[in-house]
Amino acid sequence: MDKNISWFIEKQVEKTIHALNQKNMKGIFVKDETELIEVIQSLVAKNSVVGVGDSVTLSETGVLDLLRNGDYAFLDKYKEGITSEEKKGIYIQNFSADTFLCSTNAITEEGELYNIDGNGSRVAPMIYGPKQVIIVTGINKLVRNKEEAEKRTRNYAAPLDAKRLHKDTPCTKMGHCVDCKSPNRICNAFVTISGQLVKDRIKVIIVGKALGY
Ligand code: SF4
Repeated sequence: MDKNISWFIEKQVEKTIHALNQKNMKGIFVKDETELIEVIQSLVAKNSVVGVGDSVTLSETGVLDLLRNGDYAFLDKYKEGITSEEKKGIYIQNFSADTFLCSTNAITEEGELYNIDGNGSRVAPMIYGPKQVIIVTGINKLVRNKEEAEKRTRNYAAPLDAKRLHKDTPCTKMGHCVDCKSPNRICNAFVTISGQLVKDRIKVIIVGKALGY
């Protein structure tokens, strides 16, 4: 990577981690997937109960494979043959998990996590329930402020997510959001997490590369 771009990203990461720390959330930077897995192993106790939110980032970084390796009581919403009733059961169990892992749609230099969710099963345990929440994000999701976060999520992350989920919505045909009234709309809960009462309950691991949507 060009050294000036590296410098810019470094500053952006520094500002974001500083702002997160001021809001009682712990910001951690790792350079790649290998370091990410080491940090997660150090934070998540063996045999503890672990749930996840829907996330391309967790899949492509090998975090889901780690959780499936047998060292954890993993609430696997992706397990083969799972019924929708079983999946709903896992969503409820996630509230009492020791650790809940997911990604975020955007993270601001002011230390805010911005997410749009369809049924709330990802954002609800981020807000309340699990003893610890670990958010894994690539540098591509760092933005300056909430306005940029909403723009990024509505016009980029949400249409790609709708496409991944094979939704029949205007964005999966046009490639951008039209704030649709479709019954298949996936943008139903707009949530900004701006801080935590319990210090470091939320830990944000920023990986030094582009990941997910
Ligand atoms: S509001 Fe509708 S059109 Fe916009 S991103 Fe969400 S599902 Fe797509």
